[in-house]
Amino acid sequence: GDTAVRDATEDESTTESTGAARPAIEATDLSHAFGDIHVLEGVSLSVEPGEIVALVGPNGSGKSTLLRFLARVRTPDEGTVSVGASGQGEDDRREGQGGHNRVGYLPQQPGFRDGFSAADTLRFYAQFADGDVDVSEILTHVGLVEASDRRVDALSGGMTRLLGLGRALIGDPAVLVLDEPASGLDPGMVERLFDIVSELADSGVAVVLSSHNLGPVERTADRVAVLDGGRFVADGPPGELVEAVSAADLQTAFGEFV
Ligand code: ADP
Ligand code: MG
Repeated sequence: GDTAVRDATEDESTTESTGAARPAIEATDLSHAFGDIHVLEGVSLSVEPGEIVALVGPNGSGKSTLLRFLARVRTPDEGTVSVGASGQGEDDRREGQGGHNRVGYLPQQPGFRDGFSAADTLRFYAQFADGDVDVSEILTHVGLVEASDRRVDALSGGMTRLLGLGRALIGDPAVLVLDEPASGLDPGMVERLFDIVSELADSGVAVVLSSHNLGPVERTADRVAVLDGGRFVADGPPGELVEAVSAADLQTAFGEFV
C-alpha cells in the first residue's frame, strides 16, 4: 500500500468532515533534480502530531534531500511543505511565531563552530529562539550534562550528534526532522536517543527520521516509509513492512546493519 502518497484534496475534505486535527507537517508532490538525477518524483508525506515516521532506503535514495525540504532549509523544484496551522500548502516560514510552527532539524552532519563549549554553543543558538530557553535542561535531556563545558571539537561523533539533537530541541518544536540521528552512537546511546524521541512523540511532537537501525526503528516508529527511485515504494507499520518486503529488499533499505 502506497499510503504515504496521499491526495492533498482528499486529506482536506477528510479533515473538514471529521474535524480531525491538521497534520503537524505535510509535504505535497515534492519533485527535485540535481542536474540529470531526479532524486524525488512527486513525493508526498503527511505526519500527525505525536507520530514517528522512519524513512529508510538505499544510500542515495534521497532521504537527506527530502528531510532538508521538510526542515525548510532547502526548497524543492516543485511541491509544497506546510507546517502546523500554516496556510493551505504555502511554504510559510514562521520561525518567529514560537514553537507552534517550528521545525527542529538535526542534519546528517551536524557542524558546530570550534572552540566553544557544548553549553555555550546551545546558548548561542538559544538567542534566536522566542522566549526563554533552559540550556541546562536541554543538556540533561540529551544526556550531555557532563560534557557541558567540553569544547565541541573535543566531543565524540555520537556526542556531537546528541548536541545536534539538543540544538534541534531549542524553541520547543512541533516537528522534529532527524537525519540519521543514531549514526555514530554506541548501542547504549542509540537506545537513549530512541527513548528521547519516543518521549517527545508522546508529548505530541511529530518526528520524521532516517535510520539504518532496524531494531530501534521497529520498536519506535509508527510508520516506516521506504524511499527508492525517487518515490515511496512501501509504507506501513514496521511489522507489516518487515513481513511484506523481502529480506533482500530490507537489506538494501537498511544497509549493512540488518
Ligand atoms: P540519501 O540521504 O538517501 O543517501 P541524498 O538525499 O543524500 O540521499 O542524495 C540523493 C541523491 O542526490 C544522490 O545521488 C546524491 O548524490 C544527490 N545529491 C544530494 N545532494 C546533492 C547536491 N547538493 N548536489 C548534487 N547532487 C546531490
Ligand atoms: Mg542521507
